[in-house]
Amino acid sequence: MGFAGAALRPVVAARPLRFTPHDFRRIFATDALRAGIPPHIAAKILGHADLNTTMGYAAVYPEDTVSAHRAAIARRRQLRPGEAYRELSPEEWEEFLGHFELRKVALGVCTRDFGAPCVHEHACVRCPALRPDPAQHGRLTEILANLRDRLAEAEQQGWHGEITGLEVSIAGAERKLHTMSEMTARHGPVHLGMPDFHGVVGRLKTDKEETACS
Ligand code: SF4
Repeated sequence: MGFAGAALRPVVAARPLRFTPHDFRRIFATDALRAGIPPHIAAKILGHADLNTTMGYAAVYPEDTVSAHRAAIARRRQLRPGEAYRELSPEEWEEFLGHFELRKVALGVCTRDFGAPCVHEHACVRCPALRPDPAQHGRLTEILANLRDRLAEAEQQGWHGEITGLEVSIAGAERKLHTMSEMTARHGPVHLGMPDFHGVVGRLKTDKEETACS
């Protein structure tokens, strides 16, 4: 067995490494997983009932992460048809770029897949493919108010064919407004707890007053 687990403890100059019996279990777990033993088999050998315990024993080295990722990409390239790696014609490239230009809609960005048509008849308010833009909060608030007015009118006039559709649109608009508010809150400024200007002025005044009094 290689001593990959030596990295588990910091090496202090001029002092021999000391291993406890438990360290050898950790070294074994790391070495077994690096050697390609599946985690559930390593767990059996170590006598762990929970796979998470085994994974907690294993040291993951940066070079393992890089080489495992590269190997996964190489495997995926082998499985993909060679056609997927050919040079694009100028027309195909234009079409590809055009798709992303057409994704910008009034309330945000349409996230439908490349080559996929809009199957929701551009009813973006109720469409799950819309990624709302928080800057359009005001516009969506107006749309929602208008939808509610239309629903009230439809109920008053007995236009039952309109009511269900309007209710779906209102629910979609409310969800998107909520998402916009969450996005704004997530990306809003973070208060670092610095003293504000008024506090500083107040303190300076007090200092001056104290000087004048002395
Ligand atoms: S309705 Fe949906 S799929 Fe169609 S443009 Fe709007 S967000 Fe995109």
